[in-house]
Amino acid sequence: MEVYKFGGASVKDAAGIRNVGNIIRLNAEKDLLIVVSAMGKTTNALEALTESYINGENSTHSLFEEIRQYHHSVLAELFEDESHPAFDEIENTFIEIEWMLEDDPHPGYDFNYDQIVSIGELLSSRILSAWLNHVGFKNKWLDARGVIQTDNTYREGQVDWTKTCKAIEVMAPILKDQFIVTQGFIGGTSENFSTTLGREGSDYSAAIFASCLNAEKLTIWKDVPGVLSADPKLFSDTRKYSELPYSEAMEMTYYGATVIHPKTIKPLQNSGIPLLVKPFLNPEEEGTIINETAAVCKDFPAIIVKQHQVLASISTKELLFITEDHLSEIFKAFAMAHIKINLMQVSALSFTVCFDEEKEKFNALIVALNNSFKIKYNQDLQLITIRHYKPDTIDQLSSGKIVLMEQLSRNTAQLVLK
Ligand code: ASP
Ligand code: MG
Repeated sequence: MEVYKFGGASVKDAAGIRNVGNIIRLNAEKDLLIVVSAMGKTTNALEALTESYINGENSTHSLFEEIRQYHHSVLAELFEDESHPAFDEIENTFIEIEWMLEDDPHPGYDFNYDQIVSIGELLSSRILSAWLNHVGFKNKWLDARGVIQTDNTYREGQVDWTKTCKAIEVMAPILKDQFIVTQGFIGGTSENFSTTLGREGSDYSAAIFASCLNAEKLTIWKDVPGVLSADPKLFSDTRKYSELPYSEAMEMTYYGATVIHPKTIKPLQNSGIPLLVKPFLNPEEEGTIINETAAVCKDFPAIIVKQHQVLASISTKELLFITEDHLSEIFKAFAMAHIKINLMQVSALSFTVCFDEEKEKFNALIVALNNSFKIKYNQDLQLITIRHYKPDTIDQLSSGKIVLMEQLSRNTAQLVLK
């Protein structure tokens, strides 16, 4: 069997959903489990709804109505007959949320977030499942919250692999005579609350399903031809990799390549399942294959850009040499503020560190360090990572900009630019 994952862009409207139907038609002989993200920018819209609900703002109702209208209009375009059961299914999902919005929020922002934001995938998967049934692809809609078992770390649910695989394996026989359509990004706790696995986590869900079912292959259908050497929205001269080894793909996601969620590759590598990244608009193209044996391509550099970076320089108040004791105190503060360090450098009197700008976490860091350390920082910077760089790539990328920090290793160059 194989697992297919369709992202938000591929199901953003009725035409997108029909296109998914066509891709299934081309592969109808396979046993497929299909994982789908929320439609278009629904997750962002649900995040805004959560924020408004928790802050008790007047916009809550109109934000909710907009999301409801969007899904309703896609359904209405797909199914002329408004008595189709999909209309009721979607409406019922909205009614549940409406009830919740009428109550006071529970304590804990993240808990509320997950109960609300998780409906994006419930809606998209209901619509896709109904459409596929309608066009003759018999399928079962599976509630991922009943199989992807997580702890109660809301917004970053940690998967209990043993329980999850057991629950998924039970579903396997269904695939013999029908497809399964399920949700990415969401899971459930042992108390039956919804959790989410972190933004863009649907790829990770697909990898979990593939791994527990020991799939032959996982295909992620994207709006790009495959894994590219750089983001085509930022660079005009990008190249597509025909193949990548797992390790290289993992490194690229670590440095911030957004084409695949960083947690996706490891479970596939553990089970030796190849990952195919293919364009949903040209399904016959070959895309990029990621596996154990692929060769690393060093012919052209891979460029990964992270925006909204902070570069902070941390020194002791008495201007002492930076010792291991200081470093351990500093790292503890980063860990407690849940800030992931993207790049760092120690010098005699200061420790310089680059990380994503997230206001609340940054404030927590400053509070934690304030007693013993002085912090100076620059905001709104760019971190560029270049894998397999050539000397002129660095010059080209930094031309006209100020390089605030530079670090080179044999394969990787990193620049913090202003
Ligand atoms: N819908 C979720 C998000 O936008 C998960 C995903 O798309 O992978 O983050
Ligand atoms: Mg998405």
